[in-house]
Amino acid sequence: MSLLSAFPRTQIPDEAEKLRPQVKAFLEKSISHMRPQDRAKTWTGFDAEFSRALASHGWVGLTIPEGYGGGGRDAFARFVLVEELLAAGAPIAAHWIADRQSGPLLLRYGTEEQRQFYLPPICRGESFFCIGMSEPNSGSDLASVRTRAIRDGHSWRLTGSKIWTTYAHQSDYMIALVRTSGEPKDRQKGLSQFIIDLSLPGITIRPIRLGTLDSDFSELHFEDVRLPDNALVGTDGEGWTQVNAELAFERSGPERFYSALVLLDMWAERMRAEQCPQDREILGRLIARLASLRAMSIALTGRLAAGESPVIEAALVKDLGTSFEQDIPEIVAASVGAVPDRDADPDMLATLAYLLQLNHVFSLRGGTREILRGMIARGLGLR
Ligand SMILES: Cc1cc2nc3c(=O)[nH]c(=O)nc-3n(C[C@H](O)[C@H](O)[C@H](O)COP(=O)(O)OP(=O)(O)OC[C@H]3O[C@@H](n4cnc5c(N)ncnc54)[C@H](O)[C@@H]3O)c2cc1C
Repeated sequence: MSLLSAFPRTQIPDEAEKLRPQVKAFLEKSISHMRPQDRAKTWTGFDAEFSRALASHGWVGLTIPEGYGGGGRDAFARFVLVEELLAAGAPIAAHWIADRQSGPLLLRYGTEEQRQFYLPPICRGESFFCIGMSEPNSGSDLASVRTRAIRDGHSWRLTGSKIWTTYAHQSDYMIALVRTSGEPKDRQKGLSQFIIDLSLPGITIRPIRLGTLDSDFSELHFEDVRLPDNALVGTDGEGWTQVNAELAFERSGPERFYSALVLLDMWAERMRAEQCPQDREILGRLIARLASLRAMSIALTGRLAAGESPVIEAALVKDLGTSFEQDIPEIVAASVGAVPDRDADPDMLATLAYLLQLNHVFSLRGGTREILRGMIARGLGLR
């Protein structure tokens, strides 16, 4: 791939930029009371009321057509919205998956009946989704999933397990990748996607507690769960292709480099008050990395909007982006530790402590660093 065609220079259109001051004003009113260490959760902070307030402004399902209750705006407008939400540390987890992934997936592969049913409540911030890809023993090796749906007349019977499912215990629906034919050794063949109503009988959901004491994800068991015929999303056996299209959306957005921005902001604020040339130089380097990542992410926003599926390039943004957001807490910790006698803002220290516990997950969620680098190497013709 040539770098310029992979990441064409792309500018956010003025029309999309007009949204920025409106979102900033809303956030100033609605989350300025939140402690920085809570804002540091950003897209893993769950607050259903906040999601509904955002939806009342038309900012959930922004790119969904108006006919389905969405904002009918383009992907650049969503970039502006999401960038502001992440930078401020807004608690967007409740609607995040539905907004980023499940809604667009249903729009692309769903039947008209599925769109009419699922999209309007997503846009009202009333219907929350989770992603059921990983299973015990099938994480990186996603093609080996064992959860199985068997056709039974006009319905399906689902049996198996999913794990590490972000906010399954707070979600209404899961879009899951499961096997509908063949064996795990058949790999990508015979996989399909289903939309699963998590209130159905036969489903057990157990939250898993993280080292940070947050319960952000869960383990699920499906015991002969009966799914209606119309729970199938897209085409039977085409799940792998559909999931890959979804992953390009999942890996190239600003959420892959903004996870520690609340801390970076606090550190920069502290520097305004103090003269420390060494720290300023480090901050300059970080800002330069951020600007490059942002330009790459905007370029892929344009390509996704044009109907392309830049999966390898998205993997590159995620790998570079998560390295950046992992570095921020380490760099701030080194700066604070270098002058231990200097008074440090307790909120900044609490935010730093939280992110130091969390930052290792940035390069795990959504596909690990090793797997992404393997994909990038293949894309460059090196493997
Ligand atoms: C915070 C968080 C949220 C998540 N949310 C979700 C979610 O909502 N839905 C969902 O489906 N999943 C979710 N996941 C799961 C995540 O996608 C998996 O953890 C990830 O894909 C790795 O799978 P695994 O845990 O089974 O590890 P494994 O696949 O067992 O990997 C273990 C280690 O071996 C390395 N490795 C594995 N295979 C190779 C290889 N071929 N070459 C080189 N190295 C290799 C990996 O890079 C990793 O370091 C989440 C994970 C986290 C941490």
